[in-house]
Amino acid sequence: MASIAGESTAQPGSPARALALADYEPKSMLHAQQTRVERAKFPVIDVHTHITVSAKSEKGIDLGAERLYLAKPDELLRVMDAKNIRAMVNLTGGFDDGLVDTIRKYDGAFPGRFYTFVEPVYNRFLEPNYPQIQAEGIERAHRAGAKGLKILKTLGLYLRENLTSGRLVRIDDPRFDPMWDACGQLNMPVAIHVSDPIAFFTPTDRFNERYEELNNHPDWSFYGRDYPSNAELIEARNRAFARHPKTQFLVLHVGNFAENLDNVSENLDRFPNMTVDLAARIGELGRQPRRAGQFFDRYQDRILFGTDATPHGVETPQQLFGEKLYEIYFRFLETADEYFDYAPANVPPQGRWRIYGIELPDSILEKVYYQNATRLLRISS
Ligand SMILES: [Zn+2]
Repeated sequence: MASIAGESTAQPGSPARALALADYEPKSMLHAQQTRVERAKFPVIDVHTHITVSAKSEKGIDLGAERLYLAKPDELLRVMDAKNIRAMVNLTGGFDDGLVDTIRKYDGAFPGRFYTFVEPVYNRFLEPNYPQIQAEGIERAHRAGAKGLKILKTLGLYLRENLTSGRLVRIDDPRFDPMWDACGQLNMPVAIHVSDPIAFFTPTDRFNERYEELNNHPDWSFYGRDYPSNAELIEARNRAFARHPKTQFLVLHVGNFAENLDNVSENLDRFPNMTVDLAARIGELGRQPRRAGQFFDRYQDRILFGTDATPHGVETPQQLFGEKLYEIYFRFLETADEYFDYAPANVPPQGRWRIYGIELPDSILEKVYYQNATRLLRISS
């Protein structure tokens, strides 16, 4: 007997009540090729990881040198050796004693396997000679063995005139000019994260493609209040790039605009001192595999492999350091597999879609996996 549309008595096996979005975990019925890539085809340098984090921070500002160590070297090296990861770059190495300690425990103890970046000492921002203090901090970090400078989205979205209150400080604020210059003079690349996914700047409502993620992390929303728009953040960033042509900027997360590869391409064409990494954005690249393939072809000398891997980072499955995470990245870059998960999670954590591999040729794969990184970091290949 045919069912009557709108009738409230459900047929056996059909839903009797509304299903909460959080409970919905559909399994794909697609019969698709599944290639397991256990080891990367070439040695890999993961330029974007977080092995240590600040022990004390408030409203996005790190307040002291002390570090938390998220994993010991042997735990990391086991995964690295299994997956053909030659080196991990720990971007959040902190500053002062915390930095020195981090370099000693990782880079120093296992040469060639770990590299560490320094971070700005924002807790001295209110001192009148901060620009000079910060530039000298870069020089000290260089002597201590730091390979580059990391800028978190703190600059542009959290740092305020009185540290945690007052007007937001712009990315191109002239007080940071001596810091950018010091990095240029010392050949230390600046790994910079500005802005965030474009959906984080729109209301957390039923039209938001990252609704679940923003609903789980309301503090990730930069919609409203006194936040600048994504476009304003990128413009301020670009003014800093233009003013410091001798400083190399590694713009993380596919130039912080993986949803708009036209924009990233324009900026790569405009700024010869700009490179990008892939970290935590294969979800974006892999949902536009043909456009992403063209992007890799055109900018093959300026794209670096990175994951944003964070040991025990269960809050953000797309960053959870481990064998599974690396296998997904390798599958995306090396195979033509279709419609697979971009993160080790039951529900895609950065938007409910799946991705397609881009099957890079060996010549590009080698550049992305390690050659571009060895050049930027000035380490031997
Ligand atoms: Zn990161």
